[in-house]
Amino acid sequence: MRSFALVRRLSLGLFASTLLVACPGARTSDVPEPTTSTASAPPSSDEPTLAGRLPTTVAPISYSLELRVDPTKETFTGRSTIAIRTKSAEKRLFLHGHDIRVTAASISSPSGTKQTVKVTALPDKSLLRLDWTGELPAGEHTVELEYEAPFGKELSGLYRVERDGQSYAFTQFEALDARRAFPCFDEPSFKTPFDVTLVVPKGQVAVSNTRQIERTESSAGDRVRFATTEKLPTYLVAFAVGPFDVVDAPPIPATKARPKATPLRGIAVKGKGKHLKEALAEHTKLVVELESYFGIAYPYDKLDVIAVPDFAAGAMENAGAITYREALVLVDPASATEQQRRDVAGVAAHELAHQWFGNLVTMAWWDDLWLNEAFATWMGQRVIQSLYPAWNADLELTEWAHGAMETDSLVSARKIRQTIVDDGDVENAFDDLTYSKGAGILAMFERFVGAEAFQAGIRRYLDEHRFGSATTEQFLTSVFGADGETKTSAAFRQFLERAGVPRVSIDAPCENGKLARLEVAAERYLPLGSKGEAASTWALPLCVKTGDATTCDLVSATATKKAVISLTKPVACPTFIFPNADGAGYIRYTPNAAQSKELFGKAYSKLSPRERLAAVDALRASFRAGAVDASTLLDILPTIAKDKVRNIAASPAGLLAYLSTHVVEDKDRASFTKIATELYQPTFKRLGWAAKAGAKEDAESKLARKDAITGLLTIAREPALRKEAVTKARAWLGVGGPENTAALSPDLLEPVLTVAAQDGGPEVFDAIVARLKKSEDAVVRRSLLIAISSASDPKLAERARALSLDEAVFSGERIRYVIGLFNVPETREAAWAWLSKNLPAVVDAVPEGVRSYLPLLVEALCDADREAEVRKVFAPQLKNMQGADHTLENAIEKMRICHAIRKHHMSGLSDALKKR
Ligand SMILES: [Zn+2]
Repeated sequence: MRSFALVRRLSLGLFASTLLVACPGARTSDVPEPTTSTASAPPSSDEPTLAGRLPTTVAPISYSLELRVDPTKETFTGRSTIAIRTKSAEKRLFLHGHDIRVTAASISSPSGTKQTVKVTALPDKSLLRLDWTGELPAGEHTVELEYEAPFGKELSGLYRVERDGQSYAFTQFEALDARRAFPCFDEPSFKTPFDVTLVVPKGQVAVSNTRQIERTESSAGDRVRFATTEKLPTYLVAFAVGPFDVVDAPPIPATKARPKATPLRGIAVKGKGKHLKEALAEHTKLVVELESYFGIAYPYDKLDVIAVPDFAAGAMENAGAITYREALVLVDPASATEQQRRDVAGVAAHELAHQWFGNLVTMAWWDDLWLNEAFATWMGQRVIQSLYPAWNADLELTEWAHGAMETDSLVSARKIRQTIVDDGDVENAFDDLTYSKGAGILAMFERFVGAEAFQAGIRRYLDEHRFGSATTEQFLTSVFGADGETKTSAAFRQFLERAGVPRVSIDAPCENGKLARLEVAAERYLPLGSKGEAASTWALPLCVKTGDATTCDLVSATATKKAVISLTKPVACPTFIFPNADGAGYIRYTPNAAQSKELFGKAYSKLSPRERLAAVDALRASFRAGAVDASTLLDILPTIAKDKVRNIAASPAGLLAYLSTHVVEDKDRASFTKIATELYQPTFKRLGWAAKAGAKEDAESKLARKDAITGLLTIAREPALRKEAVTKARAWLGVGGPENTAALSPDLLEPVLTVAAQDGGPEVFDAIVARLKKSEDAVVRRSLLIAISSASDPKLAERARALSLDEAVFSGERIRYVIGLFNVPETREAAWAWLSKNLPAVVDAVPEGVRSYLPLLVEALCDADREAEVRKVFAPQLKNMQGADHTLENAIEKMRICHAIRKHHMSGLSDALKKR
């Protein structure tokens, strides 16, 4: 699953880390009384306990599902027929089922004996217990359950969305919500074929994982039967029903790996199908490119690309029926931005990579989720890099890994491979450590063993486990060697099984003018304010640049027990040393002021783009750890801002936003504005508000313009440009004159409307809110929502907060909106007071699957002394926010670190600003 919110900073980059939106998880809620049993279950010694995990003595062989789905109704009905195999004689059976009211149930044996079973719901475990008379012998049997269930209210399970007076139904099952749509063995290692039939209102479209093979009309509706699927885990099954637009795209042409063309369609709510064309074309290109890397055919009989108007995550890789939030798949030429086009391709690449990583080969259990998500993240960027080299997807991936390092330097950080104790742990597994740290580790080891050897290992892994499940151990054996415990795989495993980023330092003893060896020390990287223990041993694939040469070695070191790397060819010294050659290492180093000046001085031009990005991370890491002062930072920033690679020039934005919001004192504001303006002004002068009429402009320039204008408007807060922004926003909105949408390029909507909501007064604010209520364009809505949530006038901010509980904000938009209310320093305290009072209502209004992200807003308070207060506000609600106990610890630690960094650098920054 890919969440889009995911990689985009929430709004003005005030949060050091990125926000991942995880998939929804199972929850306990009211369960109707099963007709065939009593409501409450007597305690039983053999009930599954660990996160509702099922006993291994019974396994499904195949499913036949028939669901009657009318999206205008409150409930749906179904029949789940499951062929099972029991290893031993059984008196009972457990299935997952949540909010499911079983109306009839039986179990039959091949001999023909059939008996009714008593079904007991165990709601707090999301289980159904099936009891029958006597013992069933080991062997194959068939369980049949008829049931009724409510449509999901939390954008999970089988849920409804209404648009323009029409009702639609969609599914989102990952991780634990297939059990809300049909009784099942809802664990990823149970992979079986599914036969799906949907009975839908007459004439409506029905979509599932495979091709439709039969459609018959009856008085009850149209009965649509789909081809038997390949073996799938329950979380990858999908349905969609409604009066959709269906767009037939040219089939994906045959390739060397796949002898036949594959049908490709787009599905969207009525009226929006016309915007699917661009995304469909991307899917074709991506499938072909992925097949050439994997050497294995796209595994399913068709591909449907489904735009979902309200969606909790970003996208979901259902086998052959991928669902996306609309902004990630509908490209409307009138509102599309350059960034959106890249996101559409990038997220499609991620979801399509899952068709192999996750779908063809599935992780055996959720503790190995990285096998799905880290791979899809890494592979998605890899394939975009080869299709669109100008987009610098490799740099983007490196930036994601750097973002994950901030989370990973928390004492409360998860391990990538964390033992799953309860359902909340499944939810927490969908975080930036699993996605971005995992992808960073893959990039590091690919660099170390070589791209070809790595590719061969991946092909071996997919081939050996195709249509099955696999574990980390099996992956390591396939990729790193037959014994499965080579030194390399042990080093790899260490990054999965422990939290933290290694901080590396290197001594280069110069003897007789020659450098022959390097001495490497390592410990855990910790920022200011951390209560962690740095001392630790690290086994690392390290590639060091010495002058023009690069030496790679697998080292094991602590802070005091140094590892020695012998250079095959001694070099003349002193020479420049860069500890992260190619910038591919998931490591940090913290140069001091003098080293930083050297790094960004004469050495800078010797670094590759990815190395320069790693150098910026080193500077950030040093600043956050107190190893360089604010004055040094300000000296270096112009060098970075001038970098000709856009991603690098833009990379200090988060740090600058942090300074602007939390460290700069009012008395120094003018000086800070001047310095920040100098960083962004040259690009703005070159590119202006828009390209010259008739001039063709490359995409990087469009993005560079947005970066520069965003920096000037929201970080530097340059007064004259902010005035211009308000004028442009008024024209775009039609305030005080006719509406002129040409006044503003779609790429600039977000920063310009944000400033307009802050400086434009109630008239402009009202117009932005009115536009939100009218707009169904997901891309425009995103900018409108960011603008509204950023209001800085106390009265308008109060209205912005009230809006977060209004239907004008769609359910799937709400979490980001609420967190966005904390971005603006002027209204932050009022937002906190409001949240403290209204948390139960806010929790209720946010979809269950993303509630655990709410505590992240606490970081913005940036005050270590408020820990008790924060805990007091969240404690009563934690039971309603699965997984939030963990994110709250993260957030409180981030709040403490934010405070410590501010305290450490405040006077230094003030002095440095005065001198300029
Ligand atoms: Zn994913």
